[in-house]
Amino acid sequence: MRGIGVRVRLLSVPVGWGMFMIFRQLFDADSSTYTYLLGCPDTRDAVIIDPVFEQHGRDCALIRELGLNVRYVLDTHVHADHVTSAWLMHSSLDAEIVLSKRYGIEGVDVAVDHGDVLAFGNCSLTVRATPGHTSGCVTYVTNNQDMAFTGDCLMIRGAGRTDFQAGDVHEMWRSIREQIFTLPNDCLIYPGHDYAGRTVSTVGEEKRFNPRIGGDAREEDFVGYMDNLALPHPRLIDIAVPANMRLGRPERDAPAEEVSWGPVVTTFAGVPEIRPDWVARHMEELYVLDVREPGEFEGELGHLEGAHLIPLNQLNERKSEVPNDRPVVTVCQSGKRSARAAEILMKAGYERVANVAGGLIQWSRLSLPFLEH
Ligand code: FE
Repeated sequence: MRGIGVRVRLLSVPVGWGMFMIFRQLFDADSSTYTYLLGCPDTRDAVIIDPVFEQHGRDCALIRELGLNVRYVLDTHVHADHVTSAWLMHSSLDAEIVLSKRYGIEGVDVAVDHGDVLAFGNCSLTVRATPGHTSGCVTYVTNNQDMAFTGDCLMIRGAGRTDFQAGDVHEMWRSIREQIFTLPNDCLIYPGHDYAGRTVSTVGEEKRFNPRIGGDAREEDFVGYMDNLALPHPRLIDIAVPANMRLGRPERDAPAEEVSWGPVVTTFAGVPEIRPDWVARHMEELYVLDVREPGEFEGELGHLEGAHLIPLNQLNERKSEVPNDRPVVTVCQSGKRSARAAEILMKAGYERVANVAGGLIQWSRLSLPFLEH
């Protein structure tokens, strides 16, 4: 049986041979929420599942660095513990907002229900209605049934609570048993949260070891367990649910936080970066801080006109030499040591700081004006 299962799955691999679906699991530590970014390796079309409002900048940096085009932003349900970034993804990346039609929320671009399929490039997700935690909860399953994104229905050795937001423990029992436990045993389970650092499970594993619904559990065992969880009221429910009913759109459309002095882009690594060509055109307005060693400053690559030299290992003691009345751009050979320099200055309270992307190697590659030898 096992051999047949493996063969069938190989035949149904959705993308080109040897190419795997792009997959990233992201975490929001404040709400213990998992966000999933899935992409087609052939077309770069992508979807993002359960993104968190406060992590929008991080998520967009990764999407940009991987060169993905996010077609859909999906929520597994209306969350009570964090605000979705669906509206932000829609307004900044033009992603279509996907949510269960059972909530009847206005502004949803694709209101889905059981059996609907969402395609992105050569990959797709099928919707399974899995109510119980809320009435509109859905699970998204990859087309070869090797991954299921269960939201707050089946979780790793757990299950989402059923005691608010029209939750129903009997519905939850049916959803898990009939919609999730019927997937192949080696289908990976990716939940909406985990509070103990666990990242992934499988259907087979949960069928055996889930302490609420695995093994020989019968419905009354599950109900008895769930009815006696005695969980505290979610900390953010009064903020999160109304905000999520607006799909995460802020009540007042606050202007996006933009850096005013230049086109600074924060990388997925968290480093503010600026393009060398922009720096070359604005040298007069900037303080250019070169953090290489003196030998390099006078060496083969030379240095930028007007650059100030403070080697990285002296920056902590000498940072008072760096003025705070104009933007500071940090530079080194390849943009690595200068990224660390930017971090040191930000920590010291400098707000207008950016690393020159790619350093002097990139500067030279772009044939930008340098250099004094
Ligand atoms: Fe939830």
